[in-house]
Amino acid sequence: MEIKIIEEKDNLLRFIISGVTPAFVNSLRRTILSEVPTMAIDEVIIVENTTSFYDEYIAHRLGLIPLKTDLKRYKYITQETSEEERVMNTARLTLDFTCQRGEDIIYSGDLKPIDPEIKPVNPKIPIVKVIKNQKLVLEAIARLGKGKEHAKWQPVSTVSYGYLPIIEINEETCNGCGECIKNCPFHVFKQNGEVKVETPSDCNMCKLCIETCPEKSIQITYDKKSFVFNIESTGALPPKEIIEEAIKILKNKLATFKEQLEK
Ligand code: SF4
Ligand code: SF4
Repeated sequence: MEIKIIEEKDNLLRFIISGVTPAFVNSLRRTILSEVPTMAIDEVIIVENTTSFYDEYIAHRLGLIPLKTDLKRYKYITQETSEEERVMNTARLTLDFTCQRGEDIIYSGDLKPIDPEIKPVNPKIPIVKVIKNQKLVLEAIARLGKGKEHAKWQPVSTVSYGYLPIIEINEETCNGCGECIKNCPFHVFKQNGEVKVETPSDCNMCKLCIETCPEKSIQITYDKKSFVFNIESTGALPPKEIIEEAIKILKNKLATFKEQLEK
Protein backbone atom coordinates (compact mmCIF):
# COMPACT_ATOMS: atom_id res chain seq x y z
CA MET A 1 0.00 0.00 0.00
CA GLU A 2 1.19 3.49 -0.82
CA ILE A 3 -0.18 6.90 0.14
CA LYS A 4 0.52 10.22 -1.56
CA ILE A 5 -0.99 13.41 -0.17
CA ILE A 6 -2.14 15.72 -2.97
CA GLU A 7 -3.87 18.48 -1.00
CA GLU A 8 -3.85 19.43 2.66
CA LYS A 9 -5.61 22.38 4.30
CA ASP A 10 -6.98 22.95 7.83
CA ASN A 11 -10.15 20.91 7.33
CA LEU A 12 -9.43 19.23 4.01
CA LEU A 13 -7.25 16.30 3.04
CA ARG A 14 -6.95 14.63 -0.37
CA PHE A 15 -4.64 11.70 -0.99
CA ILE A 16 -4.05 8.87 -3.44
CA ILE A 17 -4.12 5.44 -1.88
CA SER A 18 -2.70 2.65 -4.05
CA GLY A 19 -2.56 -1.13 -3.79
CA VAL A 20 -5.94 -1.57 -2.07
CA THR A 21 -9.45 -2.76 -2.99
CA PRO A 22 -12.74 -0.80 -3.08
CA ALA A 23 -13.83 -2.82 0.00
CA PHE A 24 -10.85 -1.48 1.95
CA VAL A 25 -11.40 2.20 1.14
CA ASN A 26 -15.13 1.80 1.72
CA SER A 27 -14.51 0.30 5.18
CA LEU A 28 -12.40 3.33 6.00
CA ARG A 29 -15.09 5.70 4.69
CA ARG A 30 -17.90 3.96 6.58
CA THR A 31 -15.90 3.88 9.81
CA ILE A 32 -15.18 7.61 9.51
CA LEU A 33 -18.86 8.36 8.94
CA SER A 34 -20.39 6.19 11.60
CA GLU A 35 -17.79 5.30 14.24
CA VAL A 36 -15.35 8.14 14.89
CA PRO A 37 -16.75 10.05 17.90
CA THR A 38 -17.06 13.83 18.12
CA MET A 39 -18.60 16.26 20.60
CA ALA A 40 -22.10 17.62 20.02
CA ILE A 41 -24.77 19.15 22.23
CA ASP A 42 -27.14 16.41 23.32
CA GLU A 43 -29.20 17.94 26.12
CA VAL A 44 -30.47 21.49 26.56
CA ILE A 45 -31.93 22.99 29.73
CA ILE A 46 -33.99 26.00 28.69
CA VAL A 47 -34.24 28.51 31.53
CA GLU A 48 -36.02 31.26 29.60
CA ASN A 49 -37.04 31.52 25.98
CA THR A 50 -39.07 34.48 24.73
CA THR A 51 -37.82 34.22 21.13
CA SER A 52 -40.10 33.26 18.25
CA PHE A 53 -38.65 29.70 18.12
CA TYR A 54 -39.90 26.73 20.14
CA ASP A 55 -37.51 25.24 22.71
CA GLU A 56 -37.23 22.03 20.64
CA TYR A 57 -36.34 23.96 17.50
CA ILE A 58 -33.52 25.78 19.32
CA ALA A 59 -32.28 22.53 20.90
CA HIS A 60 -32.16 20.90 17.45
CA ARG A 61 -30.17 23.81 16.02
CA LEU A 62 -27.73 23.71 18.94
CA GLY A 63 -27.16 20.00 18.37
CA LEU A 64 -26.06 20.66 14.79
CA ILE A 65 -23.33 23.15 15.72
CA PRO A 66 -19.93 21.42 15.29
CA LEU A 67 -17.88 21.59 18.50
CA LYS A 68 -14.11 21.30 18.87
CA THR A 69 -13.40 17.80 20.16
CA ASP A 70 -10.71 16.44 22.44
CA LEU A 71 -10.59 12.65 22.25
CA LYS A 72 -7.78 12.43 24.81
CA ARG A 73 -9.75 14.00 27.66
CA TYR A 74 -13.30 12.87 26.93
CA LYS A 75 -14.52 9.29 26.78
CA TYR A 76 -17.47 7.89 24.89
CA ILE A 77 -20.39 7.26 27.26
CA THR A 78 -22.04 3.83 27.10
CA GLN A 79 -24.81 2.19 29.14
CA GLU A 80 -22.13 0.77 31.44
CA THR A 81 -20.62 4.19 32.22
CA SER A 82 -21.08 5.16 35.87
CA GLU A 83 -22.93 8.36 36.82
CA GLU A 84 -19.69 9.93 38.06
CA GLU A 85 -17.90 9.19 34.79
CA ARG A 86 -20.86 10.47 32.81
CA VAL A 87 -20.55 13.86 34.49
CA MET A 88 -16.79 13.91 33.92
CA ASN A 89 -17.23 13.16 30.24
CA THR A 90 -19.76 15.85 29.43
CA ALA A 91 -18.97 19.47 28.61
CA ARG A 92 -21.27 22.36 29.44
CA LEU A 93 -21.93 25.57 27.56
CA THR A 94 -24.18 28.40 28.69
CA LEU A 95 -26.06 31.08 26.84
CA ASP A 96 -27.60 34.23 28.29
CA PHE A 97 -28.70 36.69 25.65
CA THR A 98 -31.14 39.60 25.79
CA CYS A 99 -31.67 41.63 22.65
CA GLN A 100 -30.83 45.26 23.45
CA ARG A 101 -31.26 46.64 19.92
CA GLY A 102 -34.16 46.75 17.45
CA GLU A 103 -33.19 43.33 16.16
CA ASP A 104 -30.25 40.99 16.47
CA ILE A 105 -29.05 37.44 15.82
CA ILE A 106 -27.88 34.98 18.47
CA TYR A 107 -24.83 33.18 17.11
CA SER A 108 -22.93 30.05 18.11
CA GLY A 109 -20.21 32.38 19.41
CA ASP A 110 -22.65 33.57 22.12
CA LEU A 111 -22.42 30.12 23.72
CA LYS A 112 -19.97 30.33 26.63
CA PRO A 113 -18.06 27.07 27.15
CA ILE A 114 -17.15 25.99 30.70
CA ASP A 115 -14.27 23.98 29.18
CA PRO A 116 -12.61 26.48 26.80
CA GLU A 117 -11.42 23.63 24.55
CA ILE A 118 -14.97 22.45 23.79
CA LYS A 119 -16.38 25.41 21.90
CA PRO A 120 -18.18 25.92 18.56
CA VAL A 121 -15.88 25.43 15.58
CA ASN A 122 -17.30 28.57 14.00
CA PRO A 123 -18.64 31.49 16.10
CA LYS A 124 -20.80 32.79 13.25
CA ILE A 125 -23.45 30.05 13.00
CA PRO A 126 -26.87 31.72 13.50
CA ILE A 127 -29.11 30.15 16.15
CA VAL A 128 -32.12 32.48 16.18
CA LYS A 129 -33.10 35.99 15.13
CA VAL A 130 -34.44 38.16 17.97
CA ILE A 131 -36.07 41.56 18.40
CA LYS A 132 -35.77 44.07 21.25
CA ASN A 133 -36.17 42.57 24.75
CA GLN A 134 -36.46 38.95 23.54
CA LYS A 135 -34.41 36.69 25.75
CA LEU A 136 -32.78 33.28 25.55
CA VAL A 137 -31.15 31.69 28.62
CA LEU A 138 -30.06 28.07 28.53
CA GLU A 139 -27.49 25.50 29.49
CA ALA A 140 -26.30 22.99 26.89
CA ILE A 141 -24.67 19.66 27.67
CA ALA A 142 -22.37 18.12 25.08
CA ARG A 143 -21.00 14.58 24.95
CA LEU A 144 -19.09 12.35 22.58
CA GLY A 145 -21.35 10.51 20.14
CA LYS A 146 -21.07 8.62 16.87
CA GLY A 147 -22.51 9.26 13.42
CA LYS A 148 -24.43 5.98 13.60
CA GLU A 149 -26.47 7.44 16.50
CA HIS A 150 -27.21 10.78 14.82
CA ALA A 151 -25.68 12.72 11.92
CA LYS A 152 -24.80 15.59 14.30
CA TRP A 153 -21.91 13.44 15.56
CA GLN A 154 -20.38 12.80 12.13
CA PRO A 155 -16.84 14.23 12.11
CA VAL A 156 -16.97 15.09 8.41
CA SER A 157 -19.10 17.16 6.10
CA THR A 158 -17.99 14.86 3.29
CA VAL A 159 -15.83 11.80 2.81
CA SER A 160 -15.59 10.16 -0.60
CA TYR A 161 -13.32 8.23 -2.91
CA GLY A 162 -13.07 7.49 -6.62
CA TYR A 163 -10.86 5.43 -8.88
CA LEU A 164 -7.65 7.18 -9.94
CA PRO A 165 -8.06 8.04 -13.65
CA ILE A 166 -5.33 7.06 -16.12
CA ILE A 167 -5.26 9.63 -18.92
CA GLU A 168 -3.13 8.90 -21.96
CA ILE A 169 -2.34 11.17 -24.91
CA ASN A 170 -1.28 9.50 -28.13
CA GLU A 171 1.84 11.53 -28.92
CA GLU A 172 1.89 10.33 -32.53
CA THR A 173 -1.54 11.73 -33.40
CA CYS A 174 -1.74 14.74 -31.03
CA ASN A 175 -1.34 17.99 -33.03
CA GLY A 176 -0.83 20.22 -29.96
CA CYS A 177 -3.99 22.28 -30.65
CA GLY A 178 -4.66 22.80 -26.91
CA GLU A 179 -8.41 22.09 -27.13
CA CYS A 180 -8.15 19.69 -24.18
CA ILE A 181 -6.53 22.41 -22.04
CA LYS A 182 -9.29 24.86 -22.97
CA ASN A 183 -12.16 22.44 -22.36
CA CYS A 184 -11.11 20.54 -19.24
CA PRO A 185 -13.06 22.07 -16.32
CA PHE A 186 -10.47 20.84 -13.81
CA HIS A 187 -7.27 22.00 -15.55
CA VAL A 188 -5.84 18.51 -15.76
CA PHE A 189 -3.70 19.30 -18.84
CA LYS A 190 -0.77 21.70 -19.11
CA GLN A 191 1.21 22.87 -22.13
CA ASN A 192 4.93 22.99 -21.67
CA GLY A 193 6.15 22.61 -25.22
CA GLU A 194 3.92 19.62 -25.74
CA VAL A 195 0.55 18.98 -24.08
CA LYS A 196 0.89 16.85 -20.94
CA VAL A 197 -1.37 15.36 -18.29
CA GLU A 198 -0.48 17.27 -15.11
CA THR A 199 -2.99 16.38 -12.37
CA PRO A 200 -4.92 13.17 -13.24
CA SER A 201 -6.25 13.00 -9.66
CA ASP A 202 -8.37 16.13 -10.37
CA CYS A 203 -10.15 14.46 -13.31
CA ASN A 204 -13.82 13.62 -12.73
CA MET A 205 -14.04 11.51 -15.89
CA CYS A 206 -16.51 13.84 -17.65
CA LYS A 207 -14.88 12.84 -21.00
CA LEU A 208 -15.19 16.36 -22.41
CA CYS A 209 -11.56 16.20 -23.52
CA ILE A 210 -12.19 12.99 -25.46
CA GLU A 211 -15.26 14.46 -27.16
CA THR A 212 -13.54 17.69 -28.17
CA CYS A 213 -10.11 16.34 -29.22
CA PRO A 214 -10.05 16.72 -33.02
CA GLU A 215 -7.51 13.89 -33.44
CA LYS A 216 -9.16 11.43 -31.01
CA SER A 217 -5.79 11.24 -29.26
CA ILE A 218 -7.02 10.94 -25.65
CA GLN A 219 -7.84 7.73 -23.88
CA ILE A 220 -9.09 7.51 -20.28
CA THR A 221 -9.23 4.37 -18.17
CA TYR A 222 -8.78 3.95 -14.44
CA ASP A 223 -6.55 2.11 -12.02
CA LYS A 224 -8.61 -0.54 -10.22
CA LYS A 225 -6.26 -0.55 -7.22
CA SER A 226 -5.72 3.18 -6.73
CA PHE A 227 -8.20 5.68 -5.32
CA VAL A 228 -8.42 9.40 -4.78
CA PHE A 229 -9.68 9.79 -1.20
CA ASN A 230 -11.25 13.12 -0.11
CA ILE A 231 -12.07 14.02 3.45
CA GLU A 232 -13.51 17.33 4.61
CA SER A 233 -13.82 17.71 8.37
CA THR A 234 -16.55 19.76 10.09
CA GLY A 235 -13.69 21.25 12.10
CA ALA A 236 -14.43 19.13 15.18
CA LEU A 237 -11.21 17.16 14.59
CA PRO A 238 -8.37 17.58 12.05
CA PRO A 239 -8.75 15.23 9.02
CA LYS A 240 -5.57 13.28 9.86
CA GLU A 241 -6.80 12.60 13.40
CA ILE A 242 -10.14 11.40 12.01
CA ILE A 243 -8.35 8.89 9.77
CA GLU A 244 -6.03 7.73 12.55
CA GLU A 245 -9.02 7.23 14.84
CA ALA A 246 -10.91 5.30 12.13
CA ILE A 247 -7.90 3.00 11.61
CA LYS A 248 -7.69 2.38 15.37
CA ILE A 249 -11.40 1.48 15.46
CA LEU A 250 -11.11 -0.83 12.45
CA LYS A 251 -8.08 -2.57 13.98
CA ASN A 252 -9.96 -3.11 17.27
CA LYS A 253 -12.96 -4.53 15.42
CA LEU A 254 -10.74 -6.97 13.52
CA ALA A 255 -8.94 -7.99 16.73
CA THR A 256 -12.33 -8.70 18.39
CA PHE A 257 -13.42 -10.66 15.33
CA LYS A 258 -10.24 -12.76 15.42
CA GLU A 259 -10.66 -13.34 19.16
CA GLN A 260 -14.27 -14.50 18.73
CA LEU A 261 -13.26 -16.77 15.85
CA GLU A 262 -10.56 -18.41 17.95
CA LYS A 263 -13.02 -19.04 20.77
S1 SF4 B 1 -7.08 18.25 -27.94
FE1 SF4 B 1 -6.21 16.35 -28.67
S2 SF4 B 1 -4.94 16.96 -30.37
FE2 SF4 B 1 -5.39 18.82 -29.22
S3 SF4 B 1 -3.66 19.03 -27.80
FE3 SF4 B 1 -5.25 17.88 -26.73
S4 SF4 B 1 -4.74 15.76 -27.08
FE4 SF4 B 1 -3.62 16.92 -28.59
S1 SF4 C 1 -12.40 13.66 -18.49
FE1 SF4 C 1 -13.11 15.74 -18.03
S2 SF4 C 1 -12.06 16.26 -16.10
FE2 SF4 C 1 -11.03 14.48 -16.95
S3 SF4 C 1 -9.34 15.29 -18.08
FE3 SF4 C 1 -11.02 15.05 -19.54
S4 SF4 C 1 -12.09 16.99 -19.52
FE4 SF4 C 1 -10.75 16.98 -17.74
